[in-house]
Amino acid sequence: MNVSTPVTSEVVSQALEATRAIIGADAVVTDGETCAYHSQDVFATGPTVAAVISPTTVDGLAKAIKTLTDAGIAVFPRGGGYSYTDAYLPTGPNGVSLDMTGLNEITEINVGDMFVTVQAGCTWEALDNALAPHGVRAEFWGPLSGFKATIGGGMSQGAASLGSSKDGISAEAVLGMEIVTADGTVFATGSAAQKGKSPFFRNYGPDLTGLFCGDAGALGIKATVTLRLQRRAKLTQGLSFGFDSFEAAQKAMAGIAASNRATEVFGFTRRAMEGVVASKGLWEDLKIMFAVGRASGGLLSGLLQLVKMAIAGRSWARKAECFVHCAVEADNRTELKGHIQTIRDAVGGAGRDIPNTMPAVMRATPFMPYPVVGMDAKRMLPLHTIVPFSKAVAFHTALEDYFAKRKVEMDAMRMTTPSIFGTLSTNGFLYEPVLYWPDQPDVFHDRNTPEELLAPMRKNAPNEKGRAFAKEMFEDMVTIMHEHGGVHLQIGKAYPYLRDRSDMTVSLVKQVKAHVDPHGLLNPGALGL
Ligand SMILES: Cc1cc2nc3c(=O)[nH]c(=O)nc-3n(C[C@H](O)[C@H](O)[C@H](O)COP(=O)(O)OP(=O)(O)OC[C@H]3O[C@@H](n4cnc5c(N)ncnc54)[C@H](O)[C@@H]3O)c2cc1C
Repeated sequence: MNVSTPVTSEVVSQALEATRAIIGADAVVTDGETCAYHSQDVFATGPTVAAVISPTTVDGLAKAIKTLTDAGIAVFPRGGGYSYTDAYLPTGPNGVSLDMTGLNEITEINVGDMFVTVQAGCTWEALDNALAPHGVRAEFWGPLSGFKATIGGGMSQGAASLGSSKDGISAEAVLGMEIVTADGTVFATGSAAQKGKSPFFRNYGPDLTGLFCGDAGALGIKATVTLRLQRRAKLTQGLSFGFDSFEAAQKAMAGIAASNRATEVFGFTRRAMEGVVASKGLWEDLKIMFAVGRASGGLLSGLLQLVKMAIAGRSWARKAECFVHCAVEADNRTELKGHIQTIRDAVGGAGRDIPNTMPAVMRATPFMPYPVVGMDAKRMLPLHTIVPFSKAVAFHTALEDYFAKRKVEMDAMRMTTPSIFGTLSTNGFLYEPVLYWPDQPDVFHDRNTPEELLAPMRKNAPNEKGRAFAKEMFEDMVTIMHEHGGVHLQIGKAYPYLRDRSDMTVSLVKQVKAHVDPHGLLNPGALGL
C-alpha cells in the first residue's frame, strides 16, 4: 500500500480552511482540549489530532473526506468514542478526527417493510426511543453503552448485548449501508445498490454489507445504516440463577442458548457480582446509582429495583460461584410460561433461583449511563473473546490459572479482574474479563463520569506502572484467548487481526483496502492495515 509521508502543518491548515468552506466553520474545531479528548479512549491516548470535524450531511461528509485525503491527511472516524481498543486513536501527527455524531437523523421508519434507515452517528438509545411508539425495535437494539455509542460504531466494530442471545450481534441486524470511501465516493450495499431500489434486503449476490461490518472504519465510513425491525414483545420477565461452579453455569448457558428462548443471557463470576451488589452498603449503593443513573429516563424504577437488589443481594451473593441472568420475552402469558419452562429445563437441577432484580434493572433502564471507570477509584481495561461453547471451560480454567500465576503482582497493584459472560445466538460464548487498577482520571474520563466517582480517583497518584501492567496482561490474555480458538469483535488497533490468518485472507483484505483507500488514509493502523 502506498502510505503517504506525514503532511506538514501548513498543508493541514489549508485543507481545514477548505473543509470549513464545505461543512461550515463551526464544524471544524481545533481547540486543544477538544483535540486531546478526541485522541483518547477509555484506556489509551494517541498522538493529538490537528482538528475535529463534524459534518451534518452525507454530501458534506463525502466532500470533507475527499478534501482531507486529497491533501494526504489521515482521517480517524469516531462515533460515541466508547471503545477501548485504540480503535479511533490517531497513529501519527496531523491526523483529523471525524466526529460522526452530527449525522444523527433517522431517515425512514418503514413498519410495513420492517426496516429503519438511520444516519450512522445516531445513538442506539435515540433510535430505540424513536422506534418504541411504532411498536417495533431493531433486531439487535444496542450495546449497554447505547446512550453514547452510535449505530456506525456498532457496525464498524461489532457490538453485542440487547437482543444478542436471541438474534446475535449488531452486524446480523443490518440490511445495507451507505458507505463513503477514502476518495469521497458514496455507494450503497444490499438491495439499495441498484438505483431506486428499497434497502429492504441484504443479500443480492456477494454480501458487500458484511465486508464493511467489523472493519474498524479501515475500509469505509458508514454514512447511513438500514436495520431489520421486529415487533416489540408485550411481556418481559427476568430469571436469575446461582451456580456452584463456572462449569455448571456455562453448561446451563449453553443449554439456554440452544433453546433460543432468551433475549439476553448474562453470566457473572462471583468477583463480578460482588462488585455489583456487595459494595459499601445500601446508602453508598444508592448514592452511586443516583450519580450513575440520574440522566436515565428510567431512573426511579432503576432505583427501586436497586434498593431491592441491595437488600436482597448480600446473602445470596455469597452462596454461589457464578450467576446467570436472563431476560425472556413473549406476547402472552402462555407463551412466556412455555419459554420459562424451556429455560428451566435447560438449567436443570444445577442452578438455584435467586432474586431476578438484575435483569429487571437492565430491562427497566437498558441505556443507563454506565461509567467509564470502576466504582472504587479505579480505571479499567475490558477485554473480550468469543469462543465455541465446547472451549469455554478450558479457556476459563486457563485464564484463572494465569490470574493465579500473577496474583502477587496483581495484589501489589490492587488490580481486580471480574469477568462477565454472555451468549450470542445459539453458537457463541462471549467472555469478558475486565482489569481494574487504581489510577487518575484523564480527559476522557473527566468528560464522561459523574464527579461523585471522579473525586476519589483524583486522590490517586498517576499510575503509569498500572497501565503498563494492564497492557502486559492484555497481551498475555489475548494469547490465551487465541490458544482456545477465540475470536474478537471490536478489533480496533489492539487485537492482532492479521495474526495467524491464511495467506488468502490477508491478501484479500489488503487488496480490498488498497481498492477503497489506496493511500492508507482511512483510520490507518485499524485491523493492522
Ligand atoms: C461503559 C461501557 C459499556 C459498554 N457496553 C458494551 C456492550 O454492552 N456491548 C458491546 O458490544 N460493547 C460495549 N461497550 C463497548 C463500546 O461502547 C461498543 O462496542 C460501541 O458499539 C462503540 O460504539 P461507538 O459509537 O462509541 O464507537 P467508537 O468508539 O466511536 O468507534 C469504534 C470503531 O468504529 C469506528 N467508527 C465509528 N463510527 C464509524 C462510522 N460511522 N464509519 C466508520 N467507522 C466508524 C471507529 O473508527 C472505531 O474503529 C461498552 C463500553 C463502555 C465504556
